[in-house]
Amino acid sequence: MSTSSPDWLTHGHPHIWLPYTQMKTADLPAPVARTQGCRIELADGRVLIDGIASWWTACHGYNHPHIVHAVQAQLERMPHVMFGGLVHEPALTLARRLCALLGPGLDRVFFTESGSVSVEVAMKMAMQYWSNLGEPQRRRILAFRGGYHGDTFGTMAVCDPGIGMHTAFDGAVARQDLCELPTDEARADMLEAWLAARADQVAAILVEPLVQGAGGMRMHAPAVLARLREMADRHGILLIFDEIFTGFGRTGSLFAFEQAGVRPDIVTLSKALTGGTLPLAATVASQRVFEGFWSDDPTHALMHGPTYMGHALGCAAALASLDLFETEPRLAQVRVIEGLLREGLAPCNALPGVREVRVMGAIGAIELTSRPDPAALRRAFLEAGAWIRPFGRIVYLTPAFVMPPEDLRRLTGVICEVLGASA
Ligand code: PLP
Repeated sequence: MSTSSPDWLTHGHPHIWLPYTQMKTADLPAPVARTQGCRIELADGRVLIDGIASWWTACHGYNHPHIVHAVQAQLERMPHVMFGGLVHEPALTLARRLCALLGPGLDRVFFTESGSVSVEVAMKMAMQYWSNLGEPQRRRILAFRGGYHGDTFGTMAVCDPGIGMHTAFDGAVARQDLCELPTDEARADMLEAWLAARADQVAAILVEPLVQGAGGMRMHAPAVLARLREMADRHGILLIFDEIFTGFGRTGSLFAFEQAGVRPDIVTLSKALTGGTLPLAATVASQRVFEGFWSDDPTHALMHGPTYMGHALGCAAALASLDLFETEPRLAQVRVIEGLLREGLAPCNALPGVREVRVMGAIGAIELTSRPDPAALRRAFLEAGAWIRPFGRIVYLTPAFVMPPEDLRRLTGVICEVLGASA
């Protein structure tokens, strides 16, 4: 096994710009040759067990033949066609199937190509809904501390600045309103008072249901969502659930909001929508929201239309991914993973430097008491054959739902060993 870099890395690296990376000081990125199942094979022959399913997307593992064949067949028929004035079977069938899965009340799908853009579309829908209804002053979006919704200008405005990802743009982003999630009575009262004072200026409440992901893997009870639904209803405000991370089984139910028994007016989906194979996202609106745009006035139309929206390959991949949720026992697999994560990460509770271990569905997160050196941790995980990418004070696993128990035990074992050694 050689650890020398392939030529394409040596010659290409000086021309590439990587995300969230200080290019001057960062280690060379790991060169991937191929993926299979829950494994990433590097160019030098090393094989890593993937602990994070490619930023939480590859829920069926990599290269699932059902998705591969669906995409290949679609590629031969039609890779893509513009979605303005033209439609195609994969997009319309996907829209129908998504609405059926989301349940009554979420009836209209607007496709985009990334999670951030689907959140921007949700915000635009909410604001324009109100201006179409004659309330153009409702421009405010209420978001929450600990929240993350993307890196574009519109979505930076609804991220918690405290998570520190966007400080370089302080002053350039017109930030929206941030409140604490109503996780207890005192916070609920504060939020209620905040809303009572300015509800007529608020277009929507935006929240990641059950788990705030990139903001720190913070988990909350389903009752919090029920509370937000109640408040939104009381003040006539729209409620947006950002299920980009939580959607498609990650928290144990197909959509996180199912656990709260409440429904949003708008929901955003991406990441596992295509099983991690192609970029695609969806903003799904209720009939109430859609009717706000239903008019003889052309200016009441939703003015948004990304070039690659409704990409036929992405839609074919998403349809195949939905098939797999029907033909393979994904949610049962998530339950098994949840048990293994609880068992495997429990010893970390006893380690110095560990503040808390949190598990929900196929998400296992360890919050440390201080920020570790993420590069050193990543190196230690790599040497142990695991692909795990900590951020902030969080070390976490979000494995594919098809991960064999022995691989998952290996990952949790590696985390305990590495954190134990660095404690
Ligand atoms: N919303 C949530 C909850 C996310 O977790 C993410 C990405 O991590 C986004 C939005 C942004 O999605 P994308 O990276 O596809 O733009």
